[in-house]
Amino acid sequence: MKAATKITPIAFAICLATTLISNAATAADSSQSTNLPPITTKPITLDIHFHYHERKTQYNNDWPVEKRASELTGISLNNVTTSGFDTGNESFNLMRANGDWPDIVGGTNLRAKFNQYGPLGEFLPLNDLIDQHAPNIRAFFEDKQDLIKSISAPDGNLYHIPYVPDGKFGRAYFIRKDWLDKLALPVPQTVDDVYNVLTAFLNEDPNGNGIKDEIPFFVRDFEELVRLVTLWDARTSGTDSWHDFYVSDNTVHHGYVKEEYRHGITQLAKWYAEGLIDKDVGTANSGDIRTQRLSKNQGGMTHDWFASTASFNDKLAADIKGFSFIPFAPPKSVSGKRIEEHRRTSVKPDGWAITKNNKRVVETIKYFDFWFSSAGRRLANFGVEGEHYTLVDGQPVFTDEMLNGDVPVNTKLWSIGAQVPRGFHQDYAYERQWTNEIALAGIDLYEAGNYLLKPFYGINLNAEETDTFDFYWNTLLTYMLERQEEWILGTRDINKDWDTYLVQLEKLGISKVMQIMQTAYNRQYITGNAELTEE
Ligand code: CA
Repeated sequence: MKAATKITPIAFAICLATTLISNAATAADSSQSTNLPPITTKPITLDIHFHYHERKTQYNNDWPVEKRASELTGISLNNVTTSGFDTGNESFNLMRANGDWPDIVGGTNLRAKFNQYGPLGEFLPLNDLIDQHAPNIRAFFEDKQDLIKSISAPDGNLYHIPYVPDGKFGRAYFIRKDWLDKLALPVPQTVDDVYNVLTAFLNEDPNGNGIKDEIPFFVRDFEELVRLVTLWDARTSGTDSWHDFYVSDNTVHHGYVKEEYRHGITQLAKWYAEGLIDKDVGTANSGDIRTQRLSKNQGGMTHDWFASTASFNDKLAADIKGFSFIPFAPPKSVSGKRIEEHRRTSVKPDGWAITKNNKRVVETIKYFDFWFSSAGRRLANFGVEGEHYTLVDGQPVFTDEMLNGDVPVNTKLWSIGAQVPRGFHQDYAYERQWTNEIALAGIDLYEAGNYLLKPFYGINLNAEETDTFDFYWNTLLTYMLERQEEWILGTRDINKDWDTYLVQLEKLGISKVMQIMQTAYNRQYITGNAELTEE
């Protein structure tokens, strides 16, 4: 959630929101047609360094999506990514060390590099270029100022066009509906209902084998057990990373020092002691615990991803009679709030940027803009019309071969150059087409209930703050997580430890960390320049 850069903060300068809306609207309309005039009538080729999937996959000049983009824009990209580096940043570092800059650099996990080397002049600031030449990008960013701030360098400039995922929903509460029916219990609506249902699952043999073998609540990740503290109004994270900071009323908080957390952990320890929670939850998993618990007809409830968890209904239908594992609304917390704390990230640290060696800067920013037009966005998401999808009532629908071929849809898309982490805006419709009805109904339920919290994009620290953060945080978090596990598993008692725990956190530097997080947050989101704020 943080990027290391040693730049004096300067007032946030991007002015996308104030630019000409009418121009943007006109351009967006004209891009509805795929008969766009090309960006350049005399075709040009730009070199690109681009890798993704743990840096194992490179840009491919032969992707059908690349070829179609070339036809539409007059611009072809030529892959010059150095081969022979399977992981890490060696390829990028070598290119940089040699001063061997192509026209464009792109791919996964590059935001920190863009924001580190952009202010040194190695990547071009895009703010003015977007204003002048990229109406589709400008229109897209218009109501997303927090997003732009979160991905800009501490000097206030934007140095890359990001990959922006679509679809908000990630994890959800799931429960064995057929077990509830068998025990004549309704879907739990409150934290007390959950307790009663899990207790019934434990004691009343809902799988009907005459053995007390049910595991009422199970999770693949210990962190998703901890997340149940939200049922007691505590928090575990404000982003899609576990144990992260969260923001409330413009104040940065960490959940693991709060009184609600103490109460929530106390209750989870009780549930664990009573056998409501998988006793193996704290141990290293051998294989996929979700598959094991469900396929053995033992697991009753979990908190996990919509699409993959719902897919067990298809996988296990033949083996377990009546098997029905459904997403249900977040139960009301002790204060009556229903929240789903997890949501997908709003912007990836991926995308692409223009290097200082680029001699066709205007054409390049227009090319980046193409991918935010309707035609470009559809190409980036679905591939080539007629080959990979057809339009049905104006909506792209994947061909039967794409949906039902031997290769999973997303793997197939990557192989044609769609859904790769160029700067683009994903369209969740691409994924919805292969998500089953049970998951979709759950997503609709969560959408209707408005259970997600406001997204938080994370905090960019400057170089000095990064040093402080790194000095204290790993030790702090390690200590917090050790205690967390011991408390839940019952080897220590949170209520005996609590005061000492808070004192120890203070000794380990938590106040210093909270202070730099707040300072960085204020600079990034409130003032644009913390150093000019009157205190
Ligand atoms: Ca049983």
